[in-house]
Amino acid sequence: MPFIEGLRCRECARAYPAEALHVCEWCFGPLEVVYDYEAIAASTSREKVAAGPKTIWRYADLLPASPEGAVDLGAGLTPLLRADRLAAELGLSELWLKNDTVNPTGSFKDRVVSVALTKARELGFKVAACASTGNLANSVAAHAARAGMRSVVCIPANLELAKVVTTAVFGSCVVALEGNYDDVNRLCAELASEYPTWAFVNVNVRSYYAEGSKTLAFEVAEQLGWQAPDHVVVPVASGSQLTKVAKGFRELYKVGLLDEGPQVRISGAQALGCAPVAAAFESGADFVKPVKPSGIAKSLAIGNPADGGYALEEVRRSGGAVGAVSDAEIVEAIRLLARTEGIFAETAGGVTVAVLAKLAATGVIKPHERVVAFITGNGLKTLDAVVNECGPTATVAPNLEAFHAAINVADWQ
Ligand SMILES: [Zn+2]
Repeated sequence: MPFIEGLRCRECARAYPAEALHVCEWCFGPLEVVYDYEAIAASTSREKVAAGPKTIWRYADLLPASPEGAVDLGAGLTPLLRADRLAAELGLSELWLKNDTVNPTGSFKDRVVSVALTKARELGFKVAACASTGNLANSVAAHAARAGMRSVVCIPANLELAKVVTTAVFGSCVVALEGNYDDVNRLCAELASEYPTWAFVNVNVRSYYAEGSKTLAFEVAEQLGWQAPDHVVVPVASGSQLTKVAKGFRELYKVGLLDEGPQVRISGAQALGCAPVAAAFESGADFVKPVKPSGIAKSLAIGNPADGGYALEEVRRSGGAVGAVSDAEIVEAIRLLARTEGIFAETAGGVTVAVLAKLAATGVIKPHERVVAFITGNGLKTLDAVVNECGPTATVAPNLEAFHAAINVADWQ
């Protein structure tokens, strides 16, 4: 059984039992899972983790749901690749890429959804649901299919075609709403109170769901030979992933899986089309002012980020920064990542790499730091972003003469 003590309000610290709750009745603050770290420290070890399944469930001691009966498509334990060619382009000496494009539905969301639906079943929910900018919709639909649960996903109607098709194929009820993500989220909050047996993974099961992101930190540490990186770069939409990566590293120190060391520096990445957290960081503000999203990075287009303030706090406390980049820089970075390291990322990955480049160029990321960048979604989902730049080099008749006329290979040897 998981080592949960209960839930606690992030704002006023009131304690609640580990039930189907997500906001504080007293102050409406978000509820956070609290663990018995002494018991975990006594139970867990590097050897136990190594002997576990090759999925996020190898870290079950630090997750809020029981691994027996997990809703599991094999999320996690994705490659951590040393990226020397990209590092050389950016003037860094040790860069690693956490390649979450290869998760079962092509994004890091499989980590959080596997945890959320496992917990939802434990708590007796009957229907899986979510508000999504696309990746979450894919993952909820797939995991619900695997679990034999009905699923309902709500998305903004302007979403990329690929993300709609790859959700509907799992038999999910896909509701396209005429509005942006923040409108979708608002409706889902209303639906969640209307239908108490529906588990909206990122609304009424959010406290448990968000914990799945900690596995990014756990895997990075394990894959580096149980060492922490110096600096990580995390894309920011709701801000939840960034805060959970920070929590993940702290927990590894707490339970003894990592030896004591300096705090991991954490930087956030946003697109200029939706950069409320970057703007707050830049201006020194303590709170995040909502914006109306635009631009190509639709998976990060959350104008009113639920965990934006907490993400800001983590970044400042760790000595990181939050950067923002233009659509042109995002496309350029998608291509840079693909041509230097062989990874095709969606727009969110372009955002991360472009911000990584910017922070390296401005000295926020030091050349000697061991850096990990999170590449969180697969490029096949956002072909629209690069379709104009990436076509055939030439279209020619199928004979040698035509080939040579079109393609100059003189300096290829
Ligand atoms: Zn409270």
